Formats: sequence, C-alpha cells, structure tokens
Amino acid sequence: MKTVYVDNNATTRVDPEVFREMEPYFCDLYGNPSSMHKFGGQVAGAVKRARQQVATLIGADPSEIVFTSCGTESDNAAIWGTLHSYPQKHHIVTTRVEHPAVLTLCNHLMKQGYSVTELPVNHEGLLDLDQLRDAITPYTAVVSVMWANNETGVIFPVEEIAEIVQEKGSVFHCDAVQAVGKIPINMRKNRIDMLSLSGHKLHAPKGVGALYIRKGTRFTPFFIGGHQEHNRRGGTESVPSIIGLGKACELAMDHMDEEKTRVKAQRDRLEAGLLAKIPNALLNGHREHRLPNTSSLSFEYIEGEGILLLMSREGIAASSGSACTSGSLEPSHVLRAMGVPFTGAHGSIRFSLSRFNTDEDVDYILEKIPPIISRLRELSPFWKRRDRSAVL
Ligand code: PLP
Repeated sequence: MKTVYVDNNATTRVDPEVFREMEPYFCDLYGNPSSMHKFGGQVAGAVKRARQQVATLIGADPSEIVFTSCGTESDNAAIWGTLHSYPQKHHIVTTRVEHPAVLTLCNHLMKQGYSVTELPVNHEGLLDLDQLRDAITPYTAVVSVMWANNETGVIFPVEEIAEIVQEKGSVFHCDAVQAVGKIPINMRKNRIDMLSLSGHKLHAPKGVGALYIRKGTRFTPFFIGGHQEHNRRGGTESVPSIIGLGKACELAMDHMDEEKTRVKAQRDRLEAGLLAKIPNALLNGHREHRLPNTSSLSFEYIEGEGILLLMSREGIAASSGSACTSGSLEPSHVLRAMGVPFTGAHGSIRFSLSRFNTDEDVDYILEKIPPIISRLRELSPFWKRRDRSAVL
C-alpha cells in the first residue's frame, strides 16, 4: 500500500546522507571524544565539525552550542538553568500555547513556589506584545516563547520579543524546535539569549538536540557530571547522533530555499484543495505568519481520531489536534487557547510536510480525504443536527 507521511512536525525521516555520515561512528570510530589518545582525538575532531555545522545553520559561534539529548532537555536546561543563575528572581513568563516541554515544567516549578504567567493568544494564535511587556517584572528570571507552534505552525515575532525582554532586564529563551531548518535563523542579528533545537525535527535521528547559549549569558548546568561541553552539560557525548545532527544542519541550509518554495507550494495546494472540496472546513492559525510546511485544518462536526484512523487505512500519516485526557478526547491546549469553536476543535488535523514529500503525495491526499470526511459526517449525529437546524 502507498504510504504518505505528512506528520513531519512529530518526527522526520533520517536523511540517508545523514545516516551514511553517522555509520562509521558506531563500530569503527567509537572512541570517547574526551580521551587523550589519537583514537579519541579523531572523534573529538568530528564533534567539533558538527558543532560548527549546527552553529552555521543558526548564525552562531560554535562555542555557543551545547549538545543535549533532545528538545525537551534543551528547554528544561534553559529554564531551570536560568532560575538557578538568578535565585533572587522567581517569576517565569511564557505562553499558553508552548509545547509540554515548557508548560509541564512550568507547572512543576509552580508547585515548587515559582510564579508563572501564561500569556493568552488571539483566535489566529498570535500574542499581544503590550501584554507581554506588562507581564515582565523585576522578578522575572526568564521569558520563554516558542519561535513556531508545533500544531498550527504560527510564528511568533521572537526577535521583537527579545528586544522587549532585554529592555526589561530578563533572560529570553526561545523554543525553536519547529523553526530550525524550516525558516532562516541568524543569532548574530537578534538578541535571543538561549534557543532550543531538536535533531529529529530536521532529518537527524531522535535523541539528540542542542541548546544555544549566547556568550555572556549566565547558565547553571542542568546535567551535573564531567567537564563535557565546556562544563555546561555533563555526560559522554552521543557521538553518532551529534555527527548526524551536524550533517542534518548542513543539509537543512542547502534545502532552505526549497522549504520556502516547493514544500510551501505543496502545502498551499493541499490546503486550498481540501478547503475547496470539503464544506465546513476551516484553517487554524494565522494564514501568513506560519511555517511553510504546516497546515492545521478543522473539519466540523466529526472527530479527528476517526479521520486519522480512516486516513491511516489509506496509508496517510498525519496528526490530530486532540489529546487523550482521562480517557476522553479533548481538543489540544493550543486550539483551546485560540478559542477554536467546539464544533471544529474536535475534528482538527495537522498536515506537516517535508522535502521528502512529492506532488503525487498531495494528489493522493486530495483524492482520499474528501470521501473520508463525507463518510464520517454521514455517521455523525452532530452533522445531521446541524443540517436540521440549517433547514429550520
Ligand atoms: N518543543 C516543540 C515546539 C516541539 O514541537 C517538540 C516536539 O514535538 C519539543 C519541544 C520536544 O522535542 P523533543 O521531542 O526532541 O524532546
């Protein structure tokens, strides 16, 4: 059966070029980069090159890159590390639509006595920057705002936010896990203090990430142990994964224009086609301020899980905007924060493309999804009731 994978914000295929680059570092070049001998030295050299590749993609200096195990660790290290560097400050500012890597940590910190302000978003998923400015107090240690939302792809003006945060004297952390590799980022041209990224979102393997820490930013290590990563993260480096992340960053740089043109054109054709073919279908999030690969659509009066199941039978892999809470399906915190109406929030599907998608993939989705939606609506009491109320 044909497989069409459009769930790239969940995870991506490892690029075969990345895999080839990693292979020698399992069974041949397996030395510890901290070892004094030549065998370890050549591995240290490869890690150094990977650090340079990551730094180049985001316009940073290699010394500002700390390798981690994932985006979640980078987010935790940035927030936790800043709070421990400023013990007199106990306030965090973030948004209601962050990833659980930030929001669940903030909830946990609240139970430990920190105070947290979660900023709301409007119906297009955008923030009010005056509200953000007003939320920062002299006791705010860290402001953590994502670059791009994983569900809707909505992009926040993080460079502008960085200016505000700096004026107010706090540290700004940006979760750029969904943005790195998809849109240009240049840390030399902004004032963001810390930035998280994750390998498996940009065609590197799972289990590797990085935290950018601007030179001069106070930081307390989250992982305490050896002297690795210039004393900023203890633990022997996951060398093959780091090599993979470096190569993936180099390739992302090469493919950036394609992401902005070919991938975006495919996403736009997919979205326009579904919105035209299916009645009562709505776009979630701002149409312009969003990633080129992401489209979150709500199909009213049906359940996203049902759509996913029938799509999966046709070999199409995407995500729904629902989360299982105590055994029942609830719209995600992102859609709830945006105030997406109940009728649409339950039937939302996220399509997230990558450079490995083809025009045929888009054709296939456009052929298969409309009958799936019609079939589910025929079974939906909500759809029927909506028909009756329209007649009455
Ligand atoms: N932040 C965002 C915006 C994400 O989308 C994700 C993963 O989906 C994470 C953080 C967590 O990254 P990881 O899966 O590497 O821990």
